[in-house]
Amino acid sequence: MRKPIIAGNWKMHMTIESGKAFVKEVAASLGDTEVEVVLCVPFTLIQPLSTAAEGTPVKIAAQNMHYEDFGAFTGEVSADMLKEVGATYVVIGHSERRQYFNETDETVNLKLKKAHASGLKPIVCCGETLEEREAGTTESVVKRQVEAAFEGISPELAAETVVAYEPVWAIGTGRTATAAQAQEVIAYIRSLVEAKYGDEVSEEMRIQYGGSVKPDNVEEIMNEVDIDGALVGGASLKPDSFLSLVNF
Ligand code: 13P
Repeated sequence: MRKPIIAGNWKMHMTIESGKAFVKEVAASLGDTEVEVVLCVPFTLIQPLSTAAEGTPVKIAAQNMHYEDFGAFTGEVSADMLKEVGATYVVIGHSERRQYFNETDETVNLKLKKAHASGLKPIVCCGETLEEREAGTTESVVKRQVEAAFEGISPELAAETVVAYEPVWAIGTGRTATAAQAQEVIAYIRSLVEAKYGDEVSEEMRIQYGGSVKPDNVEEIMNEVDIDGALVGGASLKPDSFLSLVNF
């Protein structure tokens, strides 16, 4: 049985003060949740929120990292640096990073390897653009992204990787993929994982859906057999909304 994982991706939002209040409020209402609860926060919030989340089920994640350990990479942060301030997860290859910050299939693969080597748990994103969906290339795009990401990753580490399927056309647009559309692509991703690693790894790997997930569509999405969680932007920014997602 795969443990559901609901992750808020705050993107470039929130402050230390509002973030701490958020963690406090959410943690107070969570109790003994069966869901893994993750907040992907801006770099500057990782340390204060990791401290605020100590002793609660809330885990703090980074939204990006560099694949080198250290060096002349102005503006970048390494996996060990993220570990040092309390991050347990890291998002890799989000479409916004692919679109605006030169993230490529190759850097995603390097980052995935480094995250595992450092003991950070990666959430690796994939997903097609609207043009690619309309051209009928959704599967080939996702196949290319997933195969490139997992190049040289062992079965053991693959099983511990979370994949997030986020169709670019559904991010921040209010245009959610239907649960059936999300299920179809996520089942396809699981079949790719099975082809590469066998059924044990494909049964174990958790795959999330992301793109306009809200309190009123989360249950339908989570009811799909292959969907193990959600990666949520806008609807993760208010404690009550985020709690409704966690309590799908
Ligand atoms: P929205 O939930 O705002 O559509 O964002 C999705 C996303 O990009 C999560 O990583």
